[in-house]
Amino acid sequence: MLGSTGSIGRQTLDIIAEYPDLMRAELLVARSSADLLIAQARQYRPRMVIIADEQYYEYVRDALWDTGIEVATGSAAIAAAVTRPEIDTVVTAMVGYSGLESTIAAIGAGKRIALANKETLVVAGELIDRLLREGNSGSVLYPVDSEHGAFYQCLVGERMADVERLLLTASGGPFRTLPKERLETVTAADALRHPNWSMGAKITIDSATMMNKGFEMIEARWLFGIQPQDIEIVVHPQSIIHSMVAFKDGSIKAQLGLPDMHLPIRYALGLPDGRLASDCRKMTIEDMATLTLERPDFDKFPLLGMAYAAARKGGTAPCVMNAANEIAVASFLQDTIRFTDIYNIIDKTMAQVPHVEHPVYDDYVATNAEARDRASRLVEDLKINN
Ligand code: MG
Repeated sequence: MLGSTGSIGRQTLDIIAEYPDLMRAELLVARSSADLLIAQARQYRPRMVIIADEQYYEYVRDALWDTGIEVATGSAAIAAAVTRPEIDTVVTAMVGYSGLESTIAAIGAGKRIALANKETLVVAGELIDRLLREGNSGSVLYPVDSEHGAFYQCLVGERMADVERLLLTASGGPFRTLPKERLETVTAADALRHPNWSMGAKITIDSATMMNKGFEMIEARWLFGIQPQDIEIVVHPQSIIHSMVAFKDGSIKAQLGLPDMHLPIRYALGLPDGRLASDCRKMTIEDMATLTLERPDFDKFPLLGMAYAAARKGGTAPCVMNAANEIAVASFLQDTIRFTDIYNIIDKTMAQVPHVEHPVYDDYVATNAEARDRASRLVEDLKINN
């Protein structure tokens, strides 16, 4: 369980507790939330915990001294731990680029991967796709993202050759009905009020800018082998239809459910055997009574168009976009830049960082570092001018 203290991590542990006869947590990994990691370790009794940030290592180790739980720190420890034989499924729920190295290690070790870290496929989808197809490790990716879980469910029993396009639904975020001019002055607190989903801060800002939907388009492109132009974004404010697949015979299949991440996590953890029955709240007619669909506003949310352009360009372009977005979102969360600056920083960073056509792992590492550096300098310039 990579990212056990985050929103997806905590909800995944709920599911593990729901099925004690079927699954247990062997390894919990957190970046820096030491106290919550310690509490989770005492409750779920994994064999091992890793606190990625080394400054908390001794604190966590000392707190768990009487439990027999192994404690480690650092990114190399994470990449090594995910390959351990007692682990059959790796849930990747860390935030951003940090998920890449351990996901590659898990693929190499033939693990089943419940992928919640979409940035892994945004940054390095081409490499991950190659590793899965050519690596012969037996590793398989199951999506945890609700939209991709929906595509997966709609595609069960279908032939990809019969698929015309994917219809990726988006809630539209907290600013769907706000006039474009007002986006200049919205605050982080405004952006953190998501209408339907309860999520971590990074992804909630990505939902407000609709960068998240651009990322999900790229994620779907690699998960299902579909060209970007065959993925259409549909705004659906109720977040009940989690996505749809349109077939060449004119038929469309949709997957519906309440906007609760426990559902797609439960589905992903049940694969490949089947669905896990649950006492969770079930959807009623009233929940489904009003479902509306509209086209997204590419003018108001320019990161959507940028994501399509980056996906078409391929290579390291999505990696640069992701790195600049991570810096810009962190700055916006600290109220040091404006909401609309997020786009400008990503746009300028993409123009500055050299493009690599068919990247290997080291190209992603170097590109990520350079893009973060350039974006950070652009943030500094803005701070002075704002
Ligand atoms: Mg999603």
